[in-house]
Amino acid sequence: MHRRVIAHRLNAKRRTADVLINDKVDFSGLILSKDEIKGLKSAGFERPSPIQLKAIPIGRCGVDLIAQAKSGTGKTCVFSVIALESIILTMMSIQVLVLVPTREIAVQIKDVMNSIGQHMQGLHVNVFIGGLSIEDDKNKLKLCQIAIGTPGRVKHLIDSKLLSTSSIRLLILDEADKLLEENFQDQINWIFSTLPESKQVLALSATYPNYLSEHLQKYMRNPTFVCLNAMDPTLEGIHHYFCTIPSHSLPHKTFDEKVNHLLVMLSQISFHQCLIFSNYQIRAKNLSETLAKNGFPSTHISGGQGQNERLDAMRKLKEFKCRILISTDLGNLSML
Ligand code: ADP
Repeated sequence: MHRRVIAHRLNAKRRTADVLINDKVDFSGLILSKDEIKGLKSAGFERPSPIQLKAIPIGRCGVDLIAQAKSGTGKTCVFSVIALESIILTMMSIQVLVLVPTREIAVQIKDVMNSIGQHMQGLHVNVFIGGLSIEDDKNKLKLCQIAIGTPGRVKHLIDSKLLSTSSIRLLILDEADKLLEENFQDQINWIFSTLPESKQVLALSATYPNYLSEHLQKYMRNPTFVCLNAMDPTLEGIHHYFCTIPSHSLPHKTFDEKVNHLLVMLSQISFHQCLIFSNYQIRAKNLSETLAKNGFPSTHISGGQGQNERLDAMRKLKEFKCRILISTDLGNLSML
């Protein structure tokens, strides 16, 4: 089965040190299986990024691992490679569980794993997230080796005895800083308590706040810590813009002012694609409408939308069919 290339072409444009290594190392230097090296190549991954170079060999040894690096530096590929290498393809039971804070990330990870694992005959990776039908989940569970899901849905499936955890040997907490925030903690604790004692745990995160290290202590045994750019979480290749707005006693006036400034920014700054985050769903929608009226068509994504609508918005962004994406914090609703 042929899958599309998902990695960035490293030579196509200038790349920053966040993602480009100087050493002339390719993935075959990381001692991976033939099928996986072939898969990485087919998916467009030619050379490991700095975090991949450091973290993959450690994770492959089977030790518990915390990898901290900026968003967008290739952590998904780190744990995907480790997970795929650990799978016994002839065994049809869930061997790896990946927990993520949002539904969109779950789908994205499935695509990455299927792409890197495209030459692994008999590989089954499935997503279990709120907003999709439980009946479909039951079918997916019949053929599944790697389960990727949001805490709420995974807990529900384990609780209702649909998902068996007895063969799980690897637990991955992606976006661990988000995942271990208060709203998910009970669910993660509960899920963790149902897993076999003997397993490897990987946690990946862009930040490493105190509460994260406290929680991870409960789940991990003497973890190895691999950390890149701890002090500066922003990517060198992404520009952030901000503008200070005087606050007004009427909130909608402040909002109008923000929108006006945003329009000025969008018309003055040249950009390929732009992400705008908004705290309120209703505002995200209003903003999307106002931008469209002013010649900046955008797509918006929020927790209040149906899951297919959310997936559609992400697809448009990835296929460059949308230049501006307005998003609310999706993590808060992925528990449902
Ligand atoms: P993170 O999980 O750290 O946020 P991702 O794993 O999502 O980052 O990677 C960000 C982007 O970079 C993705 O589009 C991914 O395909 C691409 N990418 C990751 N590693 C490589 C690599 N070694 N070579 C080329 N592209 C890569």
